[in-house]
Parts: sequence; C-alpha cells; structure tokens
Amino acid sequence: MSSLAPLPLSTQVTVLRGLGPARAAALQDAGIESLGDLLMQLPFRYVDRGCVVGLGDLEMRGFQPGVEDHDLITVLGQVHELRQSTTRIQRMALTEVLLNDGTGTLKLVFFNQPYLGRSLKIGDRLLAFGPLLKGRGGLEMRGPQLEMMGRGGESTEWVRRFLPLYRKLGPITGRVRQKLVDEALLRAHPPEEWLPPGLCGRLPDTLDALKLLHHPPDESDPRLLNQRETPAHQRLATEELFAFALGVELRRAGRLKRRGRVVPTSEGLREKLKSFLPFHLTGAQRKVFKEIVEDLTSGRVMHRLLQGDVGSGKTLVAFLSMAMVAETGGQGALLAPTEVLARQHALNFGRLLGDEAHRMQLLLGPMKAAEKREAIARIANGEARYIVGTHALFQEAVKFSDLRLVVVDEQHRFGVKQREALKQKGGDPHWLVMSATPIPRSLALALFGDLDQSVLDELPPGRQPITTKLLDQDAAERAWNLVEKEIAAGRQAFVVSPAIDPSDETKIKLRDIQAMESLIRARFPGLDLEVVHGRLKPDDMAARMNRFVSGDAKLLLATTVIEVGVDVPNATVMVVDHAERFGLSQLHQLRGRVGRGAHRSFFVMISDAETERLRALVETQDGFKIAQKDLEIRGPGEFFGTRQAGLPQFQVADLVRDRKLLQTCREAAAKAIAEGLSDAQKDWLRREQDRLKLAEVS
Ligand code: ADP
Ligand code: MG
Repeated sequence: MSSLAPLPLSTQVTVLRGLGPARAAALQDAGIESLGDLLMQLPFRYVDRGCVVGLGDLEMRGFQPGVEDHDLITVLGQVHELRQSTTRIQRMALTEVLLNDGTGTLKLVFFNQPYLGRSLKIGDRLLAFGPLLKGRGGLEMRGPQLEMMGRGGESTEWVRRFLPLYRKLGPITGRVRQKLVDEALLRAHPPEEWLPPGLCGRLPDTLDALKLLHHPPDESDPRLLNQRETPAHQRLATEELFAFALGVELRRAGRLKRRGRVVPTSEGLREKLKSFLPFHLTGAQRKVFKEIVEDLTSGRVMHRLLQGDVGSGKTLVAFLSMAMVAETGGQGALLAPTEVLARQHALNFGRLLGDEAHRMQLLLGPMKAAEKREAIARIANGEARYIVGTHALFQEAVKFSDLRLVVVDEQHRFGVKQREALKQKGGDPHWLVMSATPIPRSLALALFGDLDQSVLDELPPGRQPITTKLLDQDAAERAWNLVEKEIAAGRQAFVVSPAIDPSDETKIKLRDIQAMESLIRARFPGLDLEVVHGRLKPDDMAARMNRFVSGDAKLLLATTVIEVGVDVPNATVMVVDHAERFGLSQLHQLRGRVGRGAHRSFFVMISDAETERLRALVETQDGFKIAQKDLEIRGPGEFFGTRQAGLPQFQVADLVRDRKLLQTCREAAAKAIAEGLSDAQKDWLRREQDRLKLAEVS
C-alpha cells in the first residue's frame, strides 16, 4: 500500500479497499463521501482497557447501579453460557449471556437483538461496555456495547490501551470501520495549513490530529479523550468553527457591499414619529433605534437582530422602524409567527397610528376571499404602508408596491427558506429580526452571525418584579387560592398545561389539559374561562383568545400557544402545571405574559421534579442569564425546541463549550477576509460550506 501515491482528504471514499456497494451506500447515508468525511466522524467513545473492571471485583467494590453515562463500566470475559428466550409480557426476544473472566461472572442482557444469540459462541472473548443495574439475580449489564476480542484460544495480548468505539453504520461494524479508517489515515497526505497562525498555535496539524483521535497513544489522558478536549480535538473544533466563521463573515461582507435604499431623514419625519409615541422611549429603546436609523440612512442593506428580554418593548422599536420607511414613501412589513400575534400587532399599530390607521393592512391566511383580495390590492397599489401578517404574506400572490423593510417577530419560528421567499418579493429590503427569547451570545453568533446585533437591556419604567413561586403538587391549593384572590380583585389569570403527546410514555402520570379543565371548573364553579390549545381551528382560536384579551373571560387555560407575545396587562397571575416539562427559557417567556400592567404579578410553577433546575427562575428574572443556563442544560437543539433551527452541525465543536473559541474564530475570520483568503482557505471553505449547510444560515 505504501507504494500508492498519497491522496488528498477530499478523495472519494470509494478508493478504499473492501468497500462493496452496501457499505458504500451506508457511508453515503451517513453523509460520508470523502476520506476527510470518514475521518472527521470520530469514535463516540474510547474504552480504556487499562481500567477494565474485574468481574470478581464488581460486587465487592459496591457498584451502585445507575444509568447515567458515568456509571458505564467496561468488563472483559469469555462467553460461558448463552440463553435465548422470549419475554412473557411484551414478547420481546431476550438474549442472556453469562460472561466469565476467571475471577467472577456477570450476566449481560439484551432485548430484541436475536441475531446476537446466533452470532455469539460459547468461548468468545467479549469486551462489554454499558450500564450496571440490579437485576433479579444480582448485578447485570443491560444492552451493552460489545466488542469481539476473538475466539477462545486466540492471543490475549492487548495491542493498544484505548479502543475507539464507532457508531455502527448499517453493515459497517466497528471492526470494518476501523479498517477503513486505518487505510484512509495511511493513504491521506497532510493538507496545506489553512488556519491563521494565531488559531493553530501549538495544536497538531489536521492529519496528525485525526491520527491521534483514531489511534490515541497509550499515554493519552482518558478523561480529555472522552470529553473531547485533547489538543487534537481542539484542532478539529477550531477548523470547524473557523470555516463556519469564514462563511458567515463572507456573507456579511457581501451584504455590506450591496446598496441599500436610503431613508431620507428630515425634521418633519422626526416630528411625525414623535407624534405617534404614546410614551417616552426607554434609554435602551433610544439607543437601539439610533442604531437602526444609522443603518437605514447609511446606504447599506440592514440585517439586524434585535434582542431583548420579555417585555423590553421590542414592538415599539419595530413600529418606529417601519414608520421610517412608511412615512418616506415606502412600505414596511411585519411578519408574526401566529395569527393571534399578527392580530395583536395590528391592534397595537392601529392604536399608535390613531387617525391614520387606514394606512395599515393586516393579511392572514384564512381571511374571506373578498377581504383578502382587497388586502392584496391595497398592498400592491401602495395604499397600505404598514403591513402586518403571517406566513400568508409570502405564500399568497402578494406583490408589494415598494417594500423597503421587513421586520420578523419571534424569528426562530420562521424558516430560512421562508425568509428567502420574502426577499424575492421586493428588491433588497432592510431586515430587522426580533427574537422572542433572549439568545445566549454564542448561539446568536452561530445562528445570526451575519446579522448586526442590537440589545434592549432595560425594561420600561414602573415594572414590578414578578413574584415567582415553585410549589409541589401537594401545595397546589395555594396556587388556586392566589388565582381566586386575583380574579376577585378584577384581574385575570393564565393556567398553562403541558402539551402531551400520546406516544410519550413517561412513567409519571401527567395531568393533561382536559384533566386540568375539570379541576379548574370544579375549583371555580361558574367562572368564565376559555381553553385554547394547538389543535383548534385558527378562527376558533382567535375568537377564544379575543374573549380573554377583551376581559370577558377571566381565566385562560392553555397549552404553550400563549408562549409568545400575548399582551394582556390585566392578567396578573400565571400557574404552570408540570413545570418540569418546560425549558427554562420557555418558562421565562411564559412568565413574561404577566407583570405587564401596574399591578403586582405572580408566576407559580407546580412541579414535583427537577426543582433544582426550576429554582433558577425563582432566583433571577434576567432572561439572558436564564437562557445561558438553559443552553448549558439542554444543548442548542433543545434550546430552540426543535432540531431544525438552522443550527450548524459540528462534528467536534460544541457551541456551549467552545463559545469563546467561536468568538476568537469570528475575529480571525474577519481579519483573514480583510487580508484576502489563501487558496487553501478557499478550498477548505468550499468543502466545509456544504457540510455545515452554511447556505441555510441566515
Ligand atoms: P416585547 O419586547 O416582549 O415584545 P412589548 O413590545 O410587547 O415587549 O412591550 C411590552 C409592554 O411594554 C407593552 O405593553 C408596551 O406597550 C410597553 N412599553 C413598551 N415601550 C415602553 C416605554 N418606553 N414605556 C412604557 N411602556 C412601554
Ligand atoms: Mg413581542
């Protein structure tokens, strides 16, 4: 093999030997096309054979059974007995393997893996890696990862201390994978250095890093290896983040070169905007609006992310920005994620516009045909200057007469593609993107890196802190007493139940929204209440919400449909049932629905679980702090409640752990672009761009 010419990492994996069509297809399914792709998928774990636990020691060392990752242990032994049966209750295939290492025995238990019973033989030597649990006959290991170490009688010599474990890809077992990886490592030649010197510092080069991670030397630190924190990991993480940062910075640089419509400012415009204002702007609103005005008058295209805690007054800033274009001959469009919110914004804008409310137009999907036709006509002929709507704005045959600014409310619910669709509709409008939940800086950089950022870091005056309580189910009556008192005083209340997916079979019995409705009706006989959830038809939903907004209904029982933006200043108490089912940021967002008026407000979480985590809400009302904590606990995917939030997929880098590194890479990328990219950098970028789906990032 050494006689073959070395290959660049971009070479197709199909050059590797032993890759039949089935295996090649499995690699392709896993997104592995080049040698580099194959090598970048690192082992998910390293078994430290230096700390294999002797079976005789298991009971003695008093292992506490558990299923957490740190309770996983490694054992090694020969298959002594092998039993295949079917469980009585769920009729699952049950495979039991008794492992013996000469000092003791341990039972391994597998469900629904009948092929194991066929492929294992008495006498096989196995390395098993998994959680230790208390079974009926003592300790047992359930569903461990297995590594075949050879049949009885074969050499027992260890070649290396660290055994890398790879995820199985179809027909490609760990063994086969290792062989492919080894050949790739042998035949690849080191790529030209493409990281700026400031970033690669004393880290190993790309190929060395890959070698170190697929074949860790015996003296490696097992903790750093498994936590993905070795210098080799850092090298690869830096590459991913730098490539990503380059892509984002290039986009931003490209946008800044485009010519944007200039809003002509004048004394008259200033007076006009002032006349709309119902109250003085907060210092933060003034600062942020100034940033927006600078963008709109600069001749560049604005793409700005407006962040602010719940209730910080983003809507007013959005309105003023729209007025900038609407009062100077253009149109502004505000996109809301739901009809409820679109209506609410329209109501707000109508109030702010006063006599000129006719210059605003609402557009929703389920409007009556005639009404919709008229709306579309008013948008097309320019009578409508302030346009508010939902997805309908870009799904329907809407043509704008002169769209100059798009404001997107509660950004992350909009797909990038939908944003693109709207961009197509009107030249190259300015963009103001508002996020509902404060987003930690590292995520904001990753998701909205090519947007300039503004932060509203101040609440309007007169806000009282919201009294937050955490009660267990037994104390729930205290919550209902509070609700009773507030309603008696003329206020309104929210009760939130988690949306329960029937396929979700958690062991805890959850109270669903129907059960909650019965409970509330029994506790508050005769109370005027409304129930809303995600399965309602849009106009039904709107009608019910309106009865609460208008004050007719005193209590709103809801699943999280009220999460974003609903503004009912008379509502002073919110009770959230099964609070542990919600993310911290989501709870904070919910909490922001109360405390919007002059009255003292309350937020009560009912929960019997995860009280440690939920305490964070009792302790702080700072949305950015809560968001950071939420991100650390749940990771970026869950943080947004979806996995499709457009987050880049990194193999090694971790947006939480590597947030400082991302920032460093951003700065390095801006510098590299200013100085001109090298060919190696352009090459790398071209390849990474695909893998990281940079095109999908806003
Ligand atoms: P969010 O940032 O959560 O979208 P909103 O824009 O809904 O917040 O504003 C929250 C509340 O604060 C609204 O009732 C709004 O009228 C009020 N508000 C906004 N700006 C000010 C201000 N400068 N002074 C007083 N109240 C304000
Ligand atoms: Mg809002």
